[in-house]
Amino acid sequence: MERIRSQLFYKKALEVIPGGVNSPVRACKAVKADPVFFERGEGAYLIDVDGNRYIDYVCSWGPLILGHAHPEVIAGVYFASKRGTSFGAPTWQEVELAELIKNAVPSIEKIRLVNSGTEATMSAIRLARAYTNRKKIIKFEGCYHGHVDALLVKAGSGLATFGIPASPGVPEELTAHTLNLPFNDFEKVKEVFEKFGEEIAAVIVEPVPANMGVIPPKEGFLKFLREITQQYGSLLIFDEVITGFRLGVGGAQEAYGVIPDLTCLGKIIGGGLPVGAYGGKAEIMNLVAPEGPVYQAGTLSGNPIAVAAGLATLKELLKPGTYERLNLMAELLEKGIREALEDLDLNYRLHRVGSMLTLFFTEKEVIDFETALSCDTHLFAEFWQRMLEKGVYLPPSQFEAWFVSLAHKEKEIEKTVEAVYKVLKKLRKD
Ligand SMILES: *Cc1c(COP(=O)(O)O)cnc(C)c1O
Repeated sequence: MERIRSQLFYKKALEVIPGGVNSPVRACKAVKADPVFFERGEGAYLIDVDGNRYIDYVCSWGPLILGHAHPEVIAGVYFASKRGTSFGAPTWQEVELAELIKNAVPSIEKIRLVNSGTEATMSAIRLARAYTNRKKIIKFEGCYHGHVDALLVKAGSGLATFGIPASPGVPEELTAHTLNLPFNDFEKVKEVFEKFGEEIAAVIVEPVPANMGVIPPKEGFLKFLREITQQYGSLLIFDEVITGFRLGVGGAQEAYGVIPDLTCLGKIIGGGLPVGAYGGKAEIMNLVAPEGPVYQAGTLSGNPIAVAAGLATLKELLKPGTYERLNLMAELLEKGIREALEDLDLNYRLHRVGSMLTLFFTEKEVIDFETALSCDTHLFAEFWQRMLEKGVYLPPSQFEAWFVSLAHKEKEIEKTVEAVYKVLKKLRKD
């Protein structure tokens, strides 16, 4: 595959944008490749600026659960934009979206729309600290909650990809109240609560971490977090920016039957436009300005075009049978890759939760960040590059989830499995 125009654009981009990209993992450095510049998306496919077609498993890092350029989303965006791009005043559609989310997500009684997942987690933490009048936050190594100062320690996503333990520019005073614990570790959580319980404002967690690769919570782990936070009067915050409306309309909290105090959303609820949200018990949410004193605002929050894209997406997802179809395709993909691994006598770990999956290039059991780091990232880079040549665009990092969308059908899954088989076979030989 030739990518001449991509290379040309990348060279130009490097002159005007740091690293040539507007978000780090896009640079493909971890897979020792140059980024691909895209022209358009069609359902399950991406078409690059040189005219190459790829089956896409990045899906904009999660939001595009309906696939690219879904007609209902396009129509929503088109008609909304004709009415005006932004008013800085309320619209009826914001209320409609809020109601729809409230009816779908068990923990949410009231919700505030923001512009990104980062804003959602930042605001939820501010609110939790205000509500409890405490400072400390527990987070888990390898979980990513956006680039919020206080949460940029041993985080997942790009920080895991590039091995950045903490970001320069964040004074240690700002992370002094952040306690980092291994995911799935009941004992460590218990110890820390015994020591600091009365000072802990909240535990923030991706209920199914997807930013260090997909790692399911151990049996009872989420329930344990619910109980221990309740016992010490701390809040439980689920960061469902990825899992919200992906593991079903009620997200991970419905799937695992554990109801947090606050929930952060993003990605899917914006249908590919910039949206985030945080919500929870009315009693807590009523502290947010102007109802209460906790300040949080946004010039473009609840933007009518973004809201239209979100509404169109969620309405499609609410149709009966959607998640059964979605998960069936992901299951087919999982089955195909498992068969390939068995056939080639490879013992790499494959995790799937709903329509998210990760193939970990390690034979060790992966249960947290430390075990995820046992992966052979050089081998993954080889794998990624060869998959790209076979027309499959995977997340350019070992520590990310592959997303299956509703636009992925048997044909795309079969083609992907075939490519995985061939590439793994070749890698095994080399
Ligand atoms: C993507 C992500 C965020 C940050 O969202 P942005 O819109 O990129 O700011 C936060 N939490 C999780 C779990 C995410 O996956």
